[in-house]
Amino acid sequence: MDEFTLIEQFFAGRVTNRDDVRVGIGDDAAVTRCDGNFELVIATDTICEGTHFPPGTPPDALGHRCLAVNLSDLAAMAAEPLWCTLALSLPEAEPDWLRSFATGFFALAERYGIALIGGDTVRGPLSMTVTVHGQVKPGAAVCRDGARLGDLIYVTGVPGLAAAGLQWLEEPGGAGESDTDRVRRFWFPEPRVSEGRALGDLVTAMIDVSDGLMDDVSRLLKASGLVARMELADLPLDVIGTDNALALALRGGDDYELCFCIPPDRVPALERLATGWPCPVTRIGTTQRGEEVAWFIDGKPCDTAGESFRHFPECP
Ligand code: ADP
Ligand code: MG
Repeated sequence: MDEFTLIEQFFAGRVTNRDDVRVGIGDDAAVTRCDGNFELVIATDTICEGTHFPPGTPPDALGHRCLAVNLSDLAAMAAEPLWCTLALSLPEAEPDWLRSFATGFFALAERYGIALIGGDTVRGPLSMTVTVHGQVKPGAAVCRDGARLGDLIYVTGVPGLAAAGLQWLEEPGGAGESDTDRVRRFWFPEPRVSEGRALGDLVTAMIDVSDGLMDDVSRLLKASGLVARMELADLPLDVIGTDNALALALRGGDDYELCFCIPPDRVPALERLATGWPCPVTRIGTTQRGEEVAWFIDGKPCDTAGESFRHFPECP
């Protein structure tokens, strides 16, 4: 199968038909109609075998995941997804693999009405790069730098669950138990797109948690020129079968949950909004001035020892 047949068979014409796509897959570039009353929000993420997922990850999970991690970035900006491109590097063109990959990809794309409008297909080590385009009303994108002194910090979902899933998969024989919640959470992260968009009007700053709470909370607050007192007593943790649930929440990656700051007087509105969400939303801290973020659980300092994942740890 050459790459043109491959694209035709698995990727072209499968998109959510959006009437703002004037030229989609098949020309030198895609052409979309932009609404002049909105701002464009763009993000790119790559996932590579061996770095972001272990060999043997099911293709439908990869199709889902490469789009999910990007939708999560749009969610964190409170943006509405519109269009995406997919650059695929494959060791070989295996029809069964591609069919399953496309099933995972388009199931998620359909759910959020995002259209695949182009990409690239090459032979090489297994990796996928997706670029997403979204939109917000002018000035409505939620950035990391908007947190204010005294804002409360919240997180969605169960941080650490995906890292627990990955840990499980990497244990000998672990993949056999592949239908557990944790493994699904790693394979099929649920981008909080609707939640992120709905939060847009309430929150002052937001980030998606992809590298563990410690790193991402620190990043968010640093951008805002603040620190925080974190109190994790109420955090739902994946306690079943893991003795290191707190460490995984703090240092593990791949959660794709939303962490955001909100002024205390907007909490009733948040509580109304979050009724009916498919995930918990939990208060985990308060912004303050100071040198660094302080982590507590049940009033006692957390064990924050350990290293977060770095792609290039040798760089100072
Ligand atoms: P060009 O050589 O002009 O860059 P390509 O031969 O790479 O075009 O791709 C042909 C068409 O197929 C283009 O519209 C491109 O955007 C699209 N395309 C290629 N690979 C993919 C893919 N994996 N998913 C979606 N569209 C793709
Ligand atoms: Mg090309």
